[in-house]
Amino acid sequence: MEANNFIEEIIVSDLESGKHDSILTRFPPEPNGYLHIGHAKSLSINFGIKEKFNGKCNLRFDDTNPTKEDIEYVDSIKEDIKWLGYVWDQELYASDYFEQMYTCAVQLIKKGLAYVCDLTADEISASRGDLKTPGKESPFRNRTVEENLSFFSDMRDGKYADGEKVLRAKIDMNSPNMNMRDPVIYRILHAFHHRTSNKWCIYPMYDFAHPIEDAIEKITHSICTLEFEDHRPLYDWVVDNCDFNPKPRQIEFARLNIKNTIMSKRFLKSLVDSGFVSGWSDPRMPTLSGMRERGYPAEAIRDFCTRVGVAKANSEVDSQLLDYCVRENLNRNAIRAMAVEEPLLVVIDNFYDGEERTYSAVDNPNDASIGSHNVTITKEIYIEKTDFSDNPPPKYIRLVPGGIVRLKSAFIVRHVSTEYDKNGMPSVIHCNYIEDSQSGGENANMKVQGTIQWVSRKYGVPCELYKYDQLLNDIEDGISDFKLRLNQHSLITIDGAVVEPFVLESSDGTPYQFMRNAYFKKAGYFSGKLRFYRIVELRDKFNKK
Ligand code: ATP
Ligand code: MG
Repeated sequence: MEANNFIEEIIVSDLESGKHDSILTRFPPEPNGYLHIGHAKSLSINFGIKEKFNGKCNLRFDDTNPTKEDIEYVDSIKEDIKWLGYVWDQELYASDYFEQMYTCAVQLIKKGLAYVCDLTADEISASRGDLKTPGKESPFRNRTVEENLSFFSDMRDGKYADGEKVLRAKIDMNSPNMNMRDPVIYRILHAFHHRTSNKWCIYPMYDFAHPIEDAIEKITHSICTLEFEDHRPLYDWVVDNCDFNPKPRQIEFARLNIKNTIMSKRFLKSLVDSGFVSGWSDPRMPTLSGMRERGYPAEAIRDFCTRVGVAKANSEVDSQLLDYCVRENLNRNAIRAMAVEEPLLVVIDNFYDGEERTYSAVDNPNDASIGSHNVTITKEIYIEKTDFSDNPPPKYIRLVPGGIVRLKSAFIVRHVSTEYDKNGMPSVIHCNYIEDSQSGGENANMKVQGTIQWVSRKYGVPCELYKYDQLLNDIEDGISDFKLRLNQHSLITIDGAVVEPFVLESSDGTPYQFMRNAYFKKAGYFSGKLRFYRIVELRDKFNKK
């Protein structure tokens, strides 16, 4: 088996040396928000290993922080993972191990490796010292085992208020690693927990809970982000001193950061709570549910994670790479449709009243197997306002007075005359169609000035377009506070667009390429009106600039 990154190298070597004969990873979200694109990276690594090495991967909810967690988040996390196409082996909850964690803590106390401390949180942090100064030992550090057992049991029994006491590991106040300076491993918190209700009023801290969760489940490789590198000695200390065997191995990788994208759940939650977005699944959000709502294919997100790779050093990925993956996927899969954003009426003068012609249009020029659909052209059609100019700039390749263009999938027309409205703007264009200029016809190869899309006035379906743009403006003028960078134009709504009728046949969620415009997802009906979301533009902005 070939390793594609440093994590896989470790796994290959552990399999070859016989250290493990099967691999078990886990994805351990805290249910305190919706999953975002950064989580997709972690999912891709953990489930990627499962798939590649024929191993297993648990979904474990790290629910040790009851005040911030909620069942709504548990449900959304499961839905998002399924949507990405990953299948977990066991669904587990850290809270199911609370009793075992308590037993581990008692064991540490009995070994003289943990003590109940009465210092306040501020006092503890003040006495911890810093990289240059050793920490100061707590006056409660040398309580006897009996005292500690009794106080800890009283903590569990609810005899103290929040913050009155904590349990600390007794390690080394002089350690060069701050995490080893008698870290707090249990705190008092009288709070309702979404799974254990009011059973517990003491909760384990992450650095104590996480290694125990991994060890209980016999996780072989516990993969986490780089900021936990300095916590690894504590992780190993807990596993060793709680006498777990076999021992899970923590491996750190660089978290995914994307330019102009803030992923922290705290920030995302503030956007939701302030009402700037419509919710966690707003199509502008970097959440997986937002991306699904927007119309990003799950496959494109997985492709993105693979392309980003697994690194040992932090870096920032350009968001254009994600757009590229989405576009590349939709280019292969999305059906082409004609839609007009700002309709301009065109009358085909040499059609008799009621005349119509039907042609076949391929669904996707990249893949004939997807099929085709019919387009029916009528005497009155709409074209895009910007596809006609009576004062054309140089190199303008659309319709101009006297000019000829091809109407996509139909025939060639020649401009005859223009009616103007009272503001002097073109309001109706008159054209004549050119006989036998449909594909395969005698005049099909006539030189035209361009090909433009159109929609029949009679059959076209009115719709609204929701065009999404990035949520945050680029960092300019030194403004880095994200609250000041919110893009007030991140949603532009267009009413009065018209689309070909065949799109009515598909189910909501179907992606289309509106030709020469962008990729759009059929979102469904809202207050009786058909709505599309813009998924991504056809070309990236770099190229346009
Ligand atoms: P946030 O800081 O956004 O709240 P988190 O790290 O607290 O995220 P968790 O629910 O604890 O979120 O994360 C579950 C898993 O996803 C963890 O293993 C975490 O390391 C990983 N993860 C979170 N964000 C990223 C990211 N940006 N890149 C890669 N992995 C991530
Ligand atoms: Mg977290």
